[in-house]
Amino acid sequence: MKISLSVGHGLYVRGASGLIDEVNESIKVVDAVANWLTTNGHQVKTFFDETSTDQSTNLNTIVNWHNANRSDIAVSVHFNAYVPTEGGRGTECLCCTGNATTLDISKRVAAAIAAASGLINRGGKERSDLYVLNGTLDPCILIETCFVDAAADVEAYQQHFDAITEAIAAVAPNPDAIDMEVLNVIGKISHFGGPDDTGVSSSEDLAWFETWDQVEAADKEHLFLDAQPDGTTGLARRLDPDGAYYVACRWDYDQFPKERLAGSELALIRSPRTGKKVLAAPIDWGPHTDTGKSVDASPAVLKQLGDVATGEEVELTYPFTESDEEDQDAPD
Ligand SMILES: [Zn+2]
Repeated sequence: MKISLSVGHGLYVRGASGLIDEVNESIKVVDAVANWLTTNGHQVKTFFDETSTDQSTNLNTIVNWHNANRSDIAVSVHFNAYVPTEGGRGTECLCCTGNATTLDISKRVAAAIAAASGLINRGGKERSDLYVLNGTLDPCILIETCFVDAAADVEAYQQHFDAITEAIAAVAPNPDAIDMEVLNVIGKISHFGGPDDTGVSSSEDLAWFETWDQVEAADKEHLFLDAQPDGTTGLARRLDPDGAYYVACRWDYDQFPKERLAGSELALIRSPRTGKKVLAAPIDWGPHTDTGKSVDASPAVLKQLGDVATGEEVELTYPFTESDEEDQDAPD
């Protein structure tokens, strides 16, 4: 396939800056993606505007370049910015409003970047107000790789740069390269739930279990203590932290509805450090995006993984399928 890649903004028309600089990083991403694409046998052209000195000239220059270098897909690489945070905000991929094909590609590219890096998946989004998307004649996507002013994003981006650029190169020309039926998450783990977890209020329930009847209907009693702990009313504090394997993740309910998450399918969690694996039941949505964590599990899960600590990186795959079964450490 023919793929054209442009760096957002330009040498004299700078983009966002924060912990990292948008234009400098976009150049690195474009170069790395181009290398992967070339290795994979695609024809690649790249562009960086080194002449324009104002924004409208810059936007016209980028669009004119794309339209003079027609390809099967045009990719514009950017980074996002918002309010500075220690936490994570994530990756997203934009396309023109009303184009089902580029929206599908955008969703898959964002999911692939997230799976490769642990960046929060903000998804594919339609936009009607972006000059490059509107003016480029090829099918066009605009990647907002991550937020330059979100510390957890920058850390994940820098740590997983090769995996991110390889994922873009794999999925942009071949959207089916990522399996949207499977959630893959790489990210930091923390733990939650149980009588002593004051991080959740005494009355807080879980995203899809708000009553004990719902727990019983789903056959999930084994994840909870026999009785509601004194002084609490919420199901989060009734979880069995040391005896049950449960996990929260920032599930996309469009992809995995609550009814399905409440069902019998399990998530496989693996520690790259110890090599140990454990199966855990989805129990809640979280951790909050500000935490910089991607997976929130029971203390029992962290122990079973070989005493991994809060903040250590793990890999999560949902749903777990039989093909993984022979090499997982069965929970007892
Ligand atoms: Zn930008």
